[in-house]
Amino acid sequence: MNILPAIADQAPVLTAIRRDLHAHPELGFEEVRTSGLIADKLTQWGIPIHRGLGKTGVVGTIRGRLGSSTRAIGLRADIDALPMAEHNTFAHASRHPGKMHACGHDGHTTMLLGAAQYLAATRNFDGLVHVIFQPAEEFGGGGQVMIRDGLFEKFPVEAVFGMHNMPGIPEGTVAASPGPILASNTEFKAVIRGKGGHAAMPHLAIDPIAVASQMMQAFQTIISRNRKPLEAAVISVTTIHAGDSFNIIPETCELTGTVRAYTRETLDMIERRMGEVAEYTAAAYGARCDFQFNRLYPATVNHAYETAFAREVLVELLGAERVVAQAPIMAAEDFSFMLEAVPGSYCFIGNGDGSHRDVGHGDGPCNVHNGSYDFNDALLPLGASFLSRLAERWLDRPLPSVR
Ligand SMILES: [Zn+2]
Ligand SMILES: [Zn+2]
Repeated sequence: MNILPAIADQAPVLTAIRRDLHAHPELGFEEVRTSGLIADKLTQWGIPIHRGLGKTGVVGTIRGRLGSSTRAIGLRADIDALPMAEHNTFAHASRHPGKMHACGHDGHTTMLLGAAQYLAATRNFDGLVHVIFQPAEEFGGGGQVMIRDGLFEKFPVEAVFGMHNMPGIPEGTVAASPGPILASNTEFKAVIRGKGGHAAMPHLAIDPIAVASQMMQAFQTIISRNRKPLEAAVISVTTIHAGDSFNIIPETCELTGTVRAYTRETLDMIERRMGEVAEYTAAAYGARCDFQFNRLYPATVNHAYETAFAREVLVELLGAERVVAQAPIMAAEDFSFMLEAVPGSYCFIGNGDGSHRDVGHGDGPCNVHNGSYDFNDALLPLGASFLSRLAERWLDRPLPSVR
């Protein structure tokens, strides 16, 4: 493995930063301490910063020393934590009750800081590297908010790159593939309005729970009967709320859930069919239904040239056998907004087999969003080396006329 020696030397420093961030998790748009730490480090390394895009976002700009080119590349990390309790008991466990870096964004932030430090110290490129520290990936679409606040007008880039750790993929292995890799994320809500009454006299009422149970079944036929079989999609009803007592038929029943898909066509079809099923199922039983379909994150779709480029850099660092393909997964990611705005790519860096984890917290790779998860510090020099080399190589090679 060709980790950059200057970055390998910084491994203890990077580990300390990562554990400090882990101990002080902050939720989306509340990353005040986190963004303060990022701003301090960048400033300390002689990198001019811009704060306030997406409230707590930080952008640092590193200018190369090999010329006066205005070509630019963006490197992005997410910085927010999750609203959940940490089960780990190690020294760097969360000191903020009910908040936890259970998705490894503490590690993503640190890998980008490591790259920023290296690039600022060496500046072996001609052009600009914008390091983008983005808030609120988990909730709130911080990536979209930064773009709305003018991210790519203030900091135009030819391409933008990001990555996420992935438990289960071996340490030292990275998965990257072109095309759709993460799904779009939509929330829906169906409020069924019937007519309340005595549970012993259902003929005088319109039972919204009976309507809801039909509707839930009918929603799944959209996946089994309307969706093209080779187009992946999920409809999950995840909450049902109705009623207060065993002997009262309630007035309303509310269903909420999520829809995941990779293409806009499939999502449009699902929205139309769910609306029809909601309206006509309710009507068939004499009830009404208010149906809302709220699109949150679009699908994350990697661009072909940028993905091939990232893979080439990964092969240089890791060797071909450690650069693998990534099958699409149904989770969502707000880096998708950045990839809709400019070309780029997003890859998955293996978080390993779980052997780095705290003793007594289970065996094997702990998944993200689990209270026993911890980012694998062994990845820090690797991720920082990848981002650094990516920037150097990108700015060194002329941009092809057709991408
Ligand atoms: Zn997450
Ligand atoms: Zn995440």
